[in-house]
Amino acid sequence: MNPTNEASQSAATATAAKRVLIVYAHPEPESLNGSLKDAMREHLLASGHEVQVSDLYAMKWKAEVDADDFPQRDRAAKLIVPSDSRRAFDSDALTEDVRLEQDKLRWADALILQFPLWWFSMPAILKGWFDRVYANGFAYGVGEHSDRHWGDRYGEGKLAGKRALVSVTAGGWQEHYSPRGINGPIDDMLFPINHGVLHYPGFEVLPSFVAYRTGRLDAAQFAALRERLVERLDGLWTDAPIGYRRQNAGDYELPALTLRPGLERQGAQGFALHVDDAAARLAS
Ligand code: FAD
Repeated sequence: MNPTNEASQSAATATAAKRVLIVYAHPEPESLNGSLKDAMREHLLASGHEVQVSDLYAMKWKAEVDADDFPQRDRAAKLIVPSDSRRAFDSDALTEDVRLEQDKLRWADALILQFPLWWFSMPAILKGWFDRVYANGFAYGVGEHSDRHWGDRYGEGKLAGKRALVSVTAGGWQEHYSPRGINGPIDDMLFPINHGVLHYPGFEVLPSFVAYRTGRLDAAQFAALRERLVERLDGLWTDAPIGYRRQNAGDYELPALTLRPGLERQGAQGFALHVDDAAARLAS
């Protein structure tokens, strides 16, 4: 089977079957991340779902956005990425690798990202997947843009109605990522991915699965970790998402898009302002 396109369907539970895209970023197939990706794929297939895996290193994914991404552009003109991206998207002239990944996103009911935390973020190859696949008109630049409506984003957009889950492994301890931990709180660290990259084009984002202290694991620790992760998959369609506020639901003053005074949980500041716990409960 082609490892980069592992579409497969179980005959069982056809009515409950959903479609899951796993985007996986690790250079070593035998790595912990590779093992967790395999465990997820097997569990989802055994549960009757369809699964595709984008294995970015195996695909030799091109991570940089550059002029080659827009083959029909005027080479004499200055490259302006949002404009060139828009023109290419509207005329179906994006490169084939990008169009295939966009099709996978359209196909999927849920997106799962599996990656190691590298320098407090995702590996560059995965960031480059978003930079290129999230074209203007596909993931941003969607909907009316005016002083009354700043686009369909943050809960609306072309990927609305789909769910997303980040599964990340970290070398640091859980305490290092606690509210007073030296690295900063994990929810803050993952906010740019969960809110900025996933909620922005419409995904409902589930609380992340984080594996800490992963530098050295024995067989029993690995088995326990794998078990915790696949249990999370059973809640993929039912778990309450993070209650990120919707941009166009009245919580933000226009045109500044600042949170209306008084809506925040007592004491909330910074990233936490954009989480409404009541919204999460209602959505579940
Ligand atoms: P691996 O090295 O493949 O495996 C880890 C352990 O799991 C090993 O003991 C291995 O034997 C065991 N294992 C793997 N598969 C199995 C299996 N099938 N069965 C049993 N045991 C298994 N950490 C942070 O916390 N914050 C950072 O900002 C950060 N930045 C980093 C930047 C870089 C460039 C690098 C290289 C590392 C960084 N780290 C950071 C550490 C990094 O997050 C961890 O090294 C990574 O998460 C471990 O995942 P892996 O898949 O590479 O593990």
